[in-house]
Amino acid sequence: MHISSIRHKLILFFSLFITLILGVIAAGTYAYFKQTTEKLILDQQFSTLTSIAAGLDDNISSAHDALINVAKVAPPDSVNNQRLTQQWLENRTGIRTIFSHSLTIFDKSGRLIASVPAEPDLYGTSFAEREYFTRTMSSHKPYISAPFVTAANDRPVVMMTSILHAKDGSIKGLLCGAIELLDQEGLFGTIKNARIGSSGYMYLFAQDRTMILHPDSSRILKQDVMPGANALFDKALDGFEGSGETINSKGQHFLASFKRLQMTGWILAANYPAAEAYQPITQFRNYYLLGMLAVFLASIALARQMGIGITRPLEDFTAHIKSLAQSGTDRSHRLDEQRTDEVGLLAKAFNTLLDEVEHHELELQQATDLADAANKSKSMFLASMSHELRTPMNGVLGMLELVNETELTSGQREYVELAQSSARILLSLLNDILDFSKIEAGKLELEHVKFALRSLLSETLHTFSLPVHDKGLSLDLQIDEQIPYVLMGDPIRLRQIIINLLGNAIKFTRQGRITVEAALENTTVSNVTIAFSVSDSGIGITREQQAVIFDAFTQADTSTTRQFGGTGLGLAICSRLVAMMQGKIRVDSEPGQGSVFRFVVCFDRAEETANELQPAPIPVQTQSRLGILLAEDNPTNQKFAMTVLAKAGHTVMLAKNGEEAVEQAMESRFDVILMDIEMPRLDGFGATQAIRARGIDTPIIALTAHAIQGFRERCLAAGMTDYLTKPIRSRDLLEKLGQFPRQPNASTTKVIEEDKKPVESPVLDTAAALKLMDGDMSILLTLLPFVLEQMSADRIEIATAISNKEADQVKKISHRLKGSVGQIGAVRAHKACALLEAAAANGDSATLVDLQISLNTELDALSPAIKAHIALHTHPDS
Ligand code: ADP
Repeated sequence: MHISSIRHKLILFFSLFITLILGVIAAGTYAYFKQTTEKLILDQQFSTLTSIAAGLDDNISSAHDALINVAKVAPPDSVNNQRLTQQWLENRTGIRTIFSHSLTIFDKSGRLIASVPAEPDLYGTSFAEREYFTRTMSSHKPYISAPFVTAANDRPVVMMTSILHAKDGSIKGLLCGAIELLDQEGLFGTIKNARIGSSGYMYLFAQDRTMILHPDSSRILKQDVMPGANALFDKALDGFEGSGETINSKGQHFLASFKRLQMTGWILAANYPAAEAYQPITQFRNYYLLGMLAVFLASIALARQMGIGITRPLEDFTAHIKSLAQSGTDRSHRLDEQRTDEVGLLAKAFNTLLDEVEHHELELQQATDLADAANKSKSMFLASMSHELRTPMNGVLGMLELVNETELTSGQREYVELAQSSARILLSLLNDILDFSKIEAGKLELEHVKFALRSLLSETLHTFSLPVHDKGLSLDLQIDEQIPYVLMGDPIRLRQIIINLLGNAIKFTRQGRITVEAALENTTVSNVTIAFSVSDSGIGITREQQAVIFDAFTQADTSTTRQFGGTGLGLAICSRLVAMMQGKIRVDSEPGQGSVFRFVVCFDRAEETANELQPAPIPVQTQSRLGILLAEDNPTNQKFAMTVLAKAGHTVMLAKNGEEAVEQAMESRFDVILMDIEMPRLDGFGATQAIRARGIDTPIIALTAHAIQGFRERCLAAGMTDYLTKPIRSRDLLEKLGQFPRQPNASTTKVIEEDKKPVESPVLDTAAALKLMDGDMSILLTLLPFVLEQMSADRIEIATAISNKEADQVKKISHRLKGSVGQIGAVRAHKACALLEAAAANGDSATLVDLQISLNTELDALSPAIKAHIALHTHPDS
């Protein structure tokens, strides 16, 4: 029971209060009742005893008087004539009923003269020694003896005497009457049989403590109440008459009364057991206690009822308030205001408050909706702006790359390279903003595909080998062997997180070690939880800075921005991506000691097949070369598409508007027409309809920035075969073209000629490289600049090693280069490296120079292909 609740307090207080009051009244009443009853009983008992004692006194005195009167009328020659005396005595029937034990006559010397009943044997026997005889003779007065046991029949008796006088007044003898104490019908029979209550009794005792009468006959004529054994008994011997409570010689509690007899000085006593005497009081007390218990219980019930009456509405209020805090509750519900008391007032006040709150909530909700909408449209705007900005940025980068390929003065080259570097930074910033605003606008969706964690991590680390090497750092990768080989999740976003953390670790570490670790945290039948950590021995982060670095646009120390660059978005993106993967990211760091970034992510298990455990083979591109008509008005897009298509070996004719497109389609037969939709003079739909109207069935692929619903249907209705959304990815474009075979009667001569040639491996098979990287273009794009640099460095080293005749060195470098170019899909350069490596291994020094030349030729072809690729695909989304 919670005493803190109002209801329970009320019950407790009310019940205690009532019980206390009743208790006090009961105790007072009981004490008063007990006292009065006790006094009443004692008084009553004493008055009864007094009247019995008076009666007894009367009886003794009447008996004695009767004896005395009989003695007075005794004949003058009695005593002298035994026979006449005996006869006279037998005729005294009146007093014989009183002295039922015996009537005797003694002569003045104490000899027995006559007796009733007759005792002829004893006649003449002297009783002069008897106490009653000597006392009567010495006092010359009638006497009542102390009780004694008769010699004749061994029964306790009391003897009364009276003097027999001669005519001259002299004493001639004694008339004695004996009364049996135990005679039920006798003088003392009433006392012996008297009962006080049902178990109380009376007794009679003499001044010398001798028990004269007692219901227990065995105690008669005994002095068995020792002084001190019964206080009131002792007091009575000292003269006390009255009633009181006492403990008798047997330890029993009695109400005792004492009264002294006038005639004999004996003390008549009444004993009434206290238990019986007080039984009505005890009964009254018990009933009272029961009654109090009932009242107590009733008061609890009453208090409870009252408590419920008061607290139930309060409980309803509380439940109502609690339910308001839960979602999905009907908030329009109001409290019952019908009560007219304070509770009703409270309900009214509360309902008014609820109305107010509801009103404010509504206003707040409207304001929040507006703010959300504004925030969403801001994020959408930011996302689409950065997206729109990236398209021209890619164009700028591509063009700069192409400019860089041309003949330039050293000053011009420097400007171009500066412009390139600025453009790359700008692009990376745009990429971050795009990612961040996409996440904020809830537009970023995670993939759920199979991927190999080990390859992902090792390839990601590999992309950083150059800056790590340049800074003289060491980079370790530790992967828990228990982690399954393949998992299901979003490898691109996982890589993005690792790249960000690793990029920061390298950026903020001047010397020492960087470690990337993946440890198995937990595993179930369907899930694998992995704890990733990226630790460095760099500048570290203070505690205050740690609290904010995961916020957007926050940098630990603004001075680091100047020193190391960056936007402050990387960790914000990381933390949001980790959160989207249901994980958590945190940092432990000490300034000057380094930092450890940790995050835990749960992946689904994937079925591992034998193939997935092997690196994918590098495929050979087999696409046929097509004759293509490109209808596009935007010069950047023209340049982009033409470069991509030319690189892939296709022949491209350009139409700058819809009309030109129709004209050229009529003049030449193409394998495919790429048709922009928004064009001056005649748009893509019009041009297509015109082409179809002229019976030309060449497949037409629409190029459009409007990937809106129903657009595909519009394209198909206009006669187009398929469509691609802008910004166009080179891979998508080439893949789409791969679906269209070369037309048998296509009129592009160059195409026909080239078709006769045997199919040659491409310089750069990015499709093959991407397969190695789970289709992640960002890895390839990160790899390409490093491979480019390695190519120019390694070709010099190979030339030096060949001229120094260091075959081993040649083998080692060509092996290294073979690995790198193989990784990016440079099939031909890979083959040239392999041949050089094999010749060096075989000691075939004669062929080394030839093989070196053919390798250089391949590298010369590869270098611009790589640069073009970088220019065209700087970001996976572009
Ligand atoms: P930035 O683009 O500025 O690096 P981030 O969000 O990736 O943005 O990082 C935010 C800030 O956190 C950084 O500017 C840097 O001050 C701090 N920081 C991140 N990683 C580290 C690290 N490994 N060591 C020291 N400081 C770091």
